[in-house]
Amino acid sequence: MTTFQELGISEPIKRAITDMGFEQASPIQEKAIPIALTGKDIIGQAQTGTGKTAAFAIPILEKVDPNKKYVQAIAIAPTRELAIQVSEEINRLAKYMGVTALPIYGGQSIDRQIKALKKGPQVITGTPGRLLDHIKRKTLKLDRISMAVLDEADEMLDMGFLEDIEQILKETPEEKQTMLFSATMPKPIQNLAERFMNHPELVKIQAKAVTSPTVKQIYYEVHERDKFEVLCRLLDVDNPELAVIFGRTKRRVDELSDALNKRGYLADGLHGDLNQRQRDVVMNKFREGNIDILVATDVAARGIDVSGVTHVYNFDIPQDPESYVHRIGRTGRAGKTGLAITFATPRETGQIRSIEKASKGSIQRKSIPTIAEARESIQQAAVEKMIQLVEEEQYAQFKRAASELLDQYDSIALVSVALKMLSKEPKDVPVQLTSEAPRYAGRPKSKHEKSKRSYKGNRDSGGKGGNGNRKKTTMTSRKKNA
Ligand code: AMP
Repeated sequence: MTTFQELGISEPIKRAITDMGFEQASPIQEKAIPIALTGKDIIGQAQTGTGKTAAFAIPILEKVDPNKKYVQAIAIAPTRELAIQVSEEINRLAKYMGVTALPIYGGQSIDRQIKALKKGPQVITGTPGRLLDHIKRKTLKLDRISMAVLDEADEMLDMGFLEDIEQILKETPEEKQTMLFSATMPKPIQNLAERFMNHPELVKIQAKAVTSPTVKQIYYEVHERDKFEVLCRLLDVDNPELAVIFGRTKRRVDELSDALNKRGYLADGLHGDLNQRQRDVVMNKFREGNIDILVATDVAARGIDVSGVTHVYNFDIPQDPESYVHRIGRTGRAGKTGLAITFATPRETGQIRSIEKASKGSIQRKSIPTIAEARESIQQAAVEKMIQLVEEEQYAQFKRAASELLDQYDSIALVSVALKMLSKEPKDVPVQLTSEAPRYAGRPKSKHEKSKRSYKGNRDSGGKGGNGNRKKTTMTSRKKNA
């Protein structure tokens, strides 16, 4: 454990750190700050919540001159919330220095930002699109910066910001210090670092390197267009208590959670566009069991801590083994067992092998349950529920009605109907998902690949199974029926 005293930080910043209540440097700060203070470029592999912001904010503040009223450092971030958070953290740390950080992001009045820029902030934190906008308008000049930070670089690349980032960096002087932070280090990030950084030093906070033996890992080969139907079938068969489903993009998360709700599952989505309060609302719903499925992007799911997740579904295959390990680490905690299910399209099956190799685990291939098997599981769940209720003896008030029914009707018919009523009836609601191009699976992502496909539910080959099924079952009855 290192104190901030030992990191060679100047007095005003140390005072601010004390005010902020930080007692010791976090591991990423302990490793990154001393290197950054020598002026070297750094690649920091660390997730949100590790204190990475201060790890680059402190070196920025050590470098900028409070007396010079022009932009001396820039931090590029994927989302407006992050841009705001980073500025806030820098301003807290700069409390005794007379340095100002200004967030610049889309969605806010550009005139207001121009006014604020004219006041001469030394540090700018911003999202790529809006930063470029200001550069083009010449309301933001980066020709005198001495420090550039790329925060959550993997997320920025995921969002298709690579070109914007390159353009922004081209506006900065050759002679500067660059720091890149990213939770994962896929090839495109390494390429970016090679092109724009000068012998960077890698600083890594070791996440759990290998998968836990308490998590059983399986995969299904599924065509993109069939994923949603297969997911619903698996949810019916697996009947998870608490599940996290990972999608590749924010749009995917929104569409998936909407589609699941249409089919009567209790799901909500978590992604980087939600502010802290909205995230808390979703997470509380999940913790309290008001929803049992959380749909999330990698980034949004980092740092979430929920016990009792029984199933993780990788609706889209993770982009690299590290993300895979992070994702499936959401389950199988505290000695409990968990199940990790990954969908791989036929051309992604090779990635399963590389994930296995890197995570030193085995991912077993399984065949997709048939509709008949799904039905059987649903029935089995109803039988188990019935047995449980009988054993708990929670039926005294129904005894008289039961006895009267048994006088009039066949006992097998009555129990069958009771089971039918306890069974989840799959809903046949058509849903639309936008097809997502694979990210790092062989070919570069095209921003324009957006063919809408309609996935008509064919869950009931008999077709007539559900005249009454289409009416909206109430969420609670559905959950409790499970
Ligand atoms: P970050 O990973 O940068 O998003 O930081 C996560 C949270 O930890 C923020 O609220 C920081 O203010 C806080 N934090 C950063 N460094 C420290 C530290 N050394 N001790 C305690 N809290 C910290």
